[in-house]
Amino acid sequence: MIARAGRITAVCVLGAALAACGGADGGRQGPGRSAVPVSIVPPVVRPPVLAPGPGGLTPVFAHGPRTRGKAVALTFDADMTADEGPRAAAGEHFDNPGLISALRALKVPATVFLTGRWADEYPAQARDLGRDPRFEVANHSYSHYAFTADCHGLPTLPADRMRADVRRADAALKKAGVPHPMPYFRFPGGCHDERSLRALSGLGMTAVQWDVVSGDAFATDAGAVARKVLDGVRPGSVVVLHCTRGAAPATERAVRTVVPELRRRGYRFVKVSELIGQTDGHRSG
Ligand SMILES: [Zn+2]
Repeated sequence: MIARAGRITAVCVLGAALAACGGADGGRQGPGRSAVPVSIVPPVVRPPVLAPGPGGLTPVFAHGPRTRGKAVALTFDADMTADEGPRAAAGEHFDNPGLISALRALKVPATVFLTGRWADEYPAQARDLGRDPRFEVANHSYSHYAFTADCHGLPTLPADRMRADVRRADAALKKAGVPHPMPYFRFPGGCHDERSLRALSGLGMTAVQWDVVSGDAFATDAGAVARKVLDGVRPGSVVVLHCTRGAAPATERAVRTVVPELRRRGYRFVKVSELIGQTDGHRSG
């Protein structure tokens, strides 16, 4: 239901002459109006994923093709460690509505990786992101614990709990109202190894890394973050940023610099799914 709202809007733009759309009576039979035929609502398109590696190993995506035009994907991680609820309750902002508003105002599509814990804390925002066709929402684990032994000081998740943690995040996103979380997983801290890739095999997930580090975590100098992104972006790049205001307070300002400058350089902003779909060997999820 929720997923269809955006698609119905899109269909309405394309087919306004064919059917009544939207509004409280959208689709209802009435004088001079015809019902919206169910058949014009497109089926849920399965997002592209990479084929598994040898032995079914979870595939890893870092950037799109370099030779198919100037496309770049901005990605935003919503970190929230399982025990950070009390800090949120005490007023720390793990969300960043101003950044999301800026992306909308700048008309920038983006891929947002939410922890399940974040979706539990901010269900209305998770639902809002999941219902907005400008964004795609993907999985950043439930607890933001590391999937390897040594990862930026994060607590480590035992191997036998990795799979359940990813599933728990997916369930939390759906519970918050994200109708179709993308089958993309971002490892907390980006840390992964063969054991963790094997632990997640068979879930149909593609692990999504990046080739441009923005350095926005805990940064206060928006200009430095923007320069790092602008220096790093190449055609097909995936940029990692954060949408947690407390831990990444300069990100919105950096984005407001980066977006017009990359457009001036001829770049087009896309979601990760588009870059994966351009990649040789991808398949429908
Ligand atoms: Zn993270």
